[in-house]
Amino acid sequence: MPHPTTLVKLVRRSSPQIIEQLNATLLGKLAEDKLLRCRKLRIDTTVLEADIDHPTDADLLEHGVRKLGRLVRRIKTAGAASRTPFRDRSLRRAGSINLGPQTTEAFMRVPPSCGAYVRVDGFGFGRSVSTGSLPKRHRALPPVRQLAHIGAMNATNLKQADTQPWDVVIIGGGPAGLSAALSLGRVRRSVLVIDAGEPRNAPAVRVGAHGILGREGISPLELLWLGREEVSAYGVRVADARVTDARRDGDGFIVVTDDGEQVRARRVLVTTGLTDELPDVPGLAERWGHDVLHCVYCHGWEVRDTAIGVLGSFHQALLFRQMSLDVTLFRHTGTELSDEQWEQLAGLGVAVADGEVTGLHIDGEDRLAGVRLASGNLVPVRNLVVAPRFVARAGFLGGLGLSVVEHPSGTGEQVQADPSGFTGVEGVWAAGNVSDVFAGVPAAAAAGVTSAAAMHMDLLMADAKTAAAARTVDAGPFSGAMEAEVSRRVLGTRVHGLDAGAGA
Ligand SMILES: Cc1cc2nc3c(=O)[nH]c(=O)nc-3n(C[C@H](O)[C@H](O)[C@H](O)COP(=O)(O)OP(=O)(O)OC[C@H]3O[C@@H](n4cnc5c(N)ncnc54)[C@H](O)[C@@H]3O)c2cc1C
Repeated sequence: MPHPTTLVKLVRRSSPQIIEQLNATLLGKLAEDKLLRCRKLRIDTTVLEADIDHPTDADLLEHGVRKLGRLVRRIKTAGAASRTPFRDRSLRRAGSINLGPQTTEAFMRVPPSCGAYVRVDGFGFGRSVSTGSLPKRHRALPPVRQLAHIGAMNATNLKQADTQPWDVVIIGGGPAGLSAALSLGRVRRSVLVIDAGEPRNAPAVRVGAHGILGREGISPLELLWLGREEVSAYGVRVADARVTDARRDGDGFIVVTDDGEQVRARRVLVTTGLTDELPDVPGLAERWGHDVLHCVYCHGWEVRDTAIGVLGSFHQALLFRQMSLDVTLFRHTGTELSDEQWEQLAGLGVAVADGEVTGLHIDGEDRLAGVRLASGNLVPVRNLVVAPRFVARAGFLGGLGLSVVEHPSGTGEQVQADPSGFTGVEGVWAAGNVSDVFAGVPAAAAAGVTSAAAMHMDLLMADAKTAAAARTVDAGPFSGAMEAEVSRRVLGTRVHGLDAGAGA
């Protein structure tokens, strides 16, 4: 029997008549040998997907480098001598990132201290691939600022920012700040966003941000990347810096950053988010956002049906019992439970463990495997739910005179603001987690939009007053009183286009 490829070649070279004759001869032979009792043969085949590596346009370079690297490594492993030293610069080792065309998957691989990167820009034939390495001094920066340094996150150099007062300076470029910037940019406000690049949900970069209609599961970093791209289309500038001070200066404000730059603003929006103060259990903070979590709406689905431990919060135990039958409440440092709560936990089948939690047990695959108690007992759990204390990131803004108040639930403190985000300090608004500790991403974004509308109106009113004042000063025959008189004579009884005399 010839090899299948030989058969395929023969079929291609032969005319349809010869194929027909071959088939007829084959069928005749099979019938003669009594292997087949029919005149026609139908063959059912299944096509199996093969792992075809098909490099296209600019990908070719990246694929080629990797393939060559692999080949040389295999040659070396096989012990073949080579006079040319081989150094693998393909940057595909752990810790490198492949950015773009920006995808959630790529952003989920951004490690906290990535050194090497492969960057793909553009699509189709316009694609280009470049590789590089982040300078050592930038590797300790937060991921958002690392991305800005390699040009994968839109950012403005503050030194080149306008010296004119900005209509609005937004301190904090998370979902609240960027949403406000988008609204303000679209109504032609000059807006500068100053962002320290540490969004609260950055630890969840591999789990994704959830509960976001239309962008469910998106990487928090990709969301910010998209946001920065979108606001820049309306002329908004985003600068990577940390604000250290903001104070009143005449009618407006001066905002100072950690690199010594100062910008002037007519209005200030504070969207700096909050800090989650975590329970003081050794090793817990390192796992925050992975298998130590707090929000059932954010990550409850991801941990469903696993063994879940809850550290010291009755309400968290109820919330997560909805996601799993295997829930243990650790009373830790003395969570008091009423008789009614004991009954409810028993009724729902939630186990209660007494004693202080002293540490976490991590398995060989770097996954949470259990919670260690002061007694030495180890309770197996795969995920641990905590109830952090939420603290608004506003300490550095003392110069603005903002009030920070305790949240009615007792879970943290936030900047005081009315429903529009107005803080009670003239010219200063606040939105997102800094003024609402319970806001998730969509609520923070919505609050930013609400504040933007209020600030825009405030600026419009101020501009209208200034314009009117300028007219009164040198209006002469065009004063407000003269304009009203001219209008009365021209329009007569017709007001707003209606003839009042005509009746209804
Ligand atoms: C682990 C974890 C996972 C989460 N997952 C989800 C989820 O799946 N879905 C969801 O809806 N919500 C989730 N959340 C909540 C979400 O993080 C917040 O709702 C959201 O980040 C609030 O947006 P924000 O703009 O108010 O604040 P942030 O996103 O925190 O943004 C504030 C920005 O201000 C910057 N900033 C702070 N101080 C300064 C300063 N001095 N100068 C300049 N910039 C400054 C910060 O660096 C940051 O970039 C999660 C929270 C955590 C902790």
